[in-house]
Amino acid sequence: MKVLVVNSGSSSIKYQMFDMTNEEVLAKGLVERIGLDGALIAHQPAGQDKYVLETAIPNHEIGIKLVVEALLDKDHGVINGMEEINAVGHRAVHGGVIAESVLITDTIKEEFKKLFNLAPLHNPPGLMGMNACEKLMPGIPQVAVFDTAFHQTMPPSAYTYALPKELCKKHKIRRYGFHGTSHKFVAQRAAKVAGVELDNSKIITCHLGNGASITAVKDGKSVDTSMGLTPLEGLVMGTRCGIIDPAIVPFLMDMENLTTDQVSTLMNKKSGVLGISGVSSDFRDLEAASAEGNRDAQLAIDVYVHYVKKLIGSYAAVLNGVDVLVFTAGLGENSWDIREKVCENMDYLGVKIDKEANKIRGQEKVVSASDSKVKVVVIPTNEELMIARDTKEVVEAIS
Ligand code: AMP
Repeated sequence: MKVLVVNSGSSSIKYQMFDMTNEEVLAKGLVERIGLDGALIAHQPAGQDKYVLETAIPNHEIGIKLVVEALLDKDHGVINGMEEINAVGHRAVHGGVIAESVLITDTIKEEFKKLFNLAPLHNPPGLMGMNACEKLMPGIPQVAVFDTAFHQTMPPSAYTYALPKELCKKHKIRRYGFHGTSHKFVAQRAAKVAGVELDNSKIITCHLGNGASITAVKDGKSVDTSMGLTPLEGLVMGTRCGIIDPAIVPFLMDMENLTTDQVSTLMNKKSGVLGISGVSSDFRDLEAASAEGNRDAQLAIDVYVHYVKKLIGSYAAVLNGVDVLVFTAGLGENSWDIREKVCENMDYLGVKIDKEANKIRGQEKVVSASDSKVKVVVIPTNEELMIARDTKEVVEAIS
């Protein structure tokens, strides 16, 4: 079975074409600057040169059309006809209480639309991608894989906010959690790498990228996660503030005369390590600035590490211990320094990192010491593969 995985953002479309007989990536690429000047498609067939085409891309439909043309092209294509695409898997960010990956129908699209106000940056372009694929690839099954679905196993005690129940019900306010596809993928992989049985395990997965979240995974299921109603809650992130005293919001709105949009932009785009440091949201810049003596950059790193440690401790309490601690995503996979700092002074929990083994980037590896009670592992995440696997499963179940 060949599966096309599509991840539609507001001005971009990332895609990968998989042959699921051996989970091989046949081609991948990126459509960039949709609706803007300088739009292009960069298409990379496996083992061949990258092909880049700059052309006007006014909307997602034209973007998807270019993807299909690139996949079919006689020089840099990887399939001979559209009928070779057996299914399309879409990354869908907010699925509300939908607990699994599903075949996209009109009813599912209506549900997805109802959640636009909870994920205004992600769900509208997601729907555009689904509609474009439906139109350009009629009859080919489309599957939605939600970032929120993996967290639907959380118990009410973990997903309920202490607000009036009528309001929570009316506005669907609860913890949903995000990065679910990544947490699920790395938890499954980490169990294998660490040699524990997923069905009988306590795993804490740290997805530390530009956006960041931590999940407590018990017996392969999410039982708590740090992002909430939206992807703003939890850890300090690149530009997001994560958890703060909620009273700060009305306080700042009063003191600075801010609208809801302005305060939301402030918390989503101008806070996090960028806000603390005033330098950058990227840890490579922070590490360089700190090495040159910039104290605010160092403080941003320290605060970040402190929050990660605090959440690991909370989830160890929720799980009554931990067998495997997993690091993934841009920072988790690449920054040995952050991993080392997070794991420092965690011997009370049985975490002992092997400093030499830990000096790796982007590699699947156990980095804890041989006498560490908790296995610490680095797992490069692969959300696209997880989406392709789920898509295959959904399509096989209906055929
Ligand atoms: P992601 O959102 O998963 O792509 O992660 C992006 C973030 O990972 C960047 O903003 C950096 O902060 C971090 N990152 C990526 N590579 C490195 C690296 N080699 N060293 C430190 N941080 C890195």
